[in-house]
Amino acid sequence: MRAWEKNFRKVEPYTPGEQPEFADMIKLNTNECPYPPTPRLLREIRALGEKMDNVRLYPNYKSESLVNALAKYYEVGADQVFVGVGSDDVLSVAFLTFFNSKEPILFPDITYSFYDVWAELYRIPYERPALDENFRIRKEDYYRKNGGIVIANPNAPTSIAEGLEFIEDILMHNRESVVIVDEAYVDFGGQSALPLIEKYENLLVVQTFSKSRAMAGMRVGYAIGHPTLIKAMNDVKYSMNSYTMNYPALMCGVCAVEDQNYFKQCCNKIIATREWTKKKLAELGFTSLDSSANFLFSTHKSVPAKQIFEELRKYNIFVRYFEKPRIDNYLRITIGTQRQMETFVDILKKIL
Ligand code: PMP
Repeated sequence: MRAWEKNFRKVEPYTPGEQPEFADMIKLNTNECPYPPTPRLLREIRALGEKMDNVRLYPNYKSESLVNALAKYYEVGADQVFVGVGSDDVLSVAFLTFFNSKEPILFPDITYSFYDVWAELYRIPYERPALDENFRIRKEDYYRKNGGIVIANPNAPTSIAEGLEFIEDILMHNRESVVIVDEAYVDFGGQSALPLIEKYENLLVVQTFSKSRAMAGMRVGYAIGHPTLIKAMNDVKYSMNSYTMNYPALMCGVCAVEDQNYFKQCCNKIIATREWTKKKLAELGFTSLDSSANFLFSTHKSVPAKQIFEELRKYNIFVRYFEKPRIDNYLRITIGTQRQMETFVDILKKIL
């Protein structure tokens, strides 16, 4: 190793799911939405062509159009909304802003695998209390002294959601550290912790446009919480890069917030297909956890998950497989369109 390499910041990066590019594939591996975003957004993008001259200019660094649209929708103040380049950006800024204690931050052993990467990157001590044997979070594990808490609700990759009382119980036991609830999948059947932000000033709720609003490629996420939390996050963000939200992302974000009907229809279709798929999988010998997300976490009674994963790939069907303790016999299957899931089930029958 050369002398100057010793000073590099070393970190094991997060590995995102594969993005293969086959015309005929069925892509069920990264929890994207199988339906297009609101048709209003497609119109907006076309109109953007005519307004392209605007990209000469820096975007509004406070992202006011989008912050205001979200504030109006959630009936909160603009000073309670933070926006970022996907919720990954929002969460990363939140970790850097809030987790500076010597006490460890806490998140489950099985959860979104980016949390430990940020903790390592920012040198935040952390501990990961184990989920119980049914893959549920044990709230008592979060009663001890800590430097912060992160709960994905619904959790990933388990798909299981906990109710509002569960989250409130964790908040009641944690008045001295910031509690982040990552609600990336909340629109598919979860209960949001947003009603608790007035009561608990240390609660930050994080959501995304990537799943239920079908905009993973546009990179828009947001957090809602007490103005003190939001100001602290903005101070950190402006100290790194003021202009994270580009002009088209802001425009499209506003447009998506305004079309609630389309968004709800989309979520309902995905929920119906999820329940259909779960039933079909059960007929084929799979057990799936109780999902409140846009994916199923399923295991087969006799065929190893890894083998099914590899066989599916031969048909250009991509699901997610984690070679990790406790979950290495499970597949995380994103819910596609009804038609895609019918093909998926047919191919599974052949494979099994
Ligand atoms: N939280 C969870 C639990 C996720 O699964 C994801 C998606 N990988 C994210 C946050 C980040 O999504 P995005 O950056 O696209 O908003």
